[in-house]
Amino acid sequence: MAIILNGKELSKKVKLRVKREVEKIKGRKPGLAVILVGEEPASKIYVKNKIKSCREVGIRSFPYFLPQNVKTYELLELIGELNASEEVDGILVQLPLPEHIDKEEVINSISPQKDVDGFHPCNMGKLLGGGEGFVPCTPLGIKLLLDYYRISLKGKDVVVVGAGFIVGRPLLALLLREGATVSVCHIHTKDLKKYTKEAEVLISATGVPHLIKEDMVREGAIVIDVGIRKVGDRIVGDVDFERVKEKARAITPVPGGVGPMTVSALLLNTLKAYGINLELKELWHT
Ligand code: NAD
Repeated sequence: MAIILNGKELSKKVKLRVKREVEKIKGRKPGLAVILVGEEPASKIYVKNKIKSCREVGIRSFPYFLPQNVKTYELLELIGELNASEEVDGILVQLPLPEHIDKEEVINSISPQKDVDGFHPCNMGKLLGGGEGFVPCTPLGIKLLLDYYRISLKGKDVVVVGAGFIVGRPLLALLLREGATVSVCHIHTKDLKKYTKEAEVLISATGVPHLIKEDMVREGAIVIDVGIRKVGDRIVGDVDFERVKEKARAITPVPGGVGPMTVSALLLNTLKAYGINLELKELWHT
C-alpha cells in the first residue's frame, strides 16, 4: 500500500509560511493581478481558488473578469497597464483563452519579471538553459511535493505522460535540471505501457480519466497524477488510484495532490516577483 503524497496538507504549511513572511513586510504588500476571459466553469473555479488563497496569506489580488468577446488588443492594453503598475508584482492570465485571442502574443506581452505563471519564452528559456527565472506553477508544485517527501529525482528514470504547454513541457525541463533521465509520452506514442512500466517516477498530465492502469505501473513506483477531469459530479485524475495505490510506493490523490501545490507555487512565485525568494527547507521536516 502506497504512501499518499498529501498536497492538501503540505499546501497548508506552505501558505502558513508565506503568510508569516507577508506579515513581516512593512508598507506595500505583494500584489497579484489575475485575468480571466469568459465564463469557462473550470477556469472560474481555478481563479476563485487563487484569489481566495491570496487573501488567506495577505497577498493583495486584483481580479479582472473580461467578457468572452474581448479583443486581443484590449487584453494587451490591460497587460501593458499592469506591467507598468507599481501595485502589481505578478500577472496571471488564466488559460485556456478563447480561440480568437492570440495566446502567444498575450503571454509574450507580460513582463518576464511579473510572469508568475512562468510561460513567457524568457522564463521557459531560462528553465531549459539553467537560468534563474519563474518556474511554471504545476511543475514547481510537483517538485515541492517530492522534496517534502524526500523523493530525489537525481538519476531516476522518470516518465511523463502528456506533453502539453502548461505541464508536460516545462516539467520536462525541470526534471532534466534535477538530473532525472526523462521520457515524455503523448497521444502519438505507439506503446505507452512499454514506457510507463519502466518508470521509477511516473507523472501523468493528460486529462484522460484513468488512463494509467495498474498493469502499466512498475512495482514500487512513485506515481504523480496531474490530471483533473470532471466525471459526473466527481473530480478524477489520469490514474486508476484505487488499484495503482496497491502497487506504487507513493502516489498523489486527486483531488488533494498536485492541485493545491500548484496554488502554493503561485503564491511563492508572487513573493519572488515582489523580491522575496523563500527557501522552504525548514518546512520540510517540522
Ligand atoms: P494539454 O491538452 O495541453 O495536453 C495534454 C497532453 O496529453 C498532450 O500532450 C496529449 O498528446 C497527451 N495525451 C492526450 N491523450 C493521451 C493518451 N491517450 N495517451 C497519451 N497521451 C495523451 O493539457 P494540459 O494543459 O497539459 O493539462 C493536462 C491535464 O492536467 C488536464 O487534465 C488539466 O486539467 C490538468 N492540469 C492540472 C493541474 C493541477 O494543478 N493539478 C494544472 C494544470 C493542468
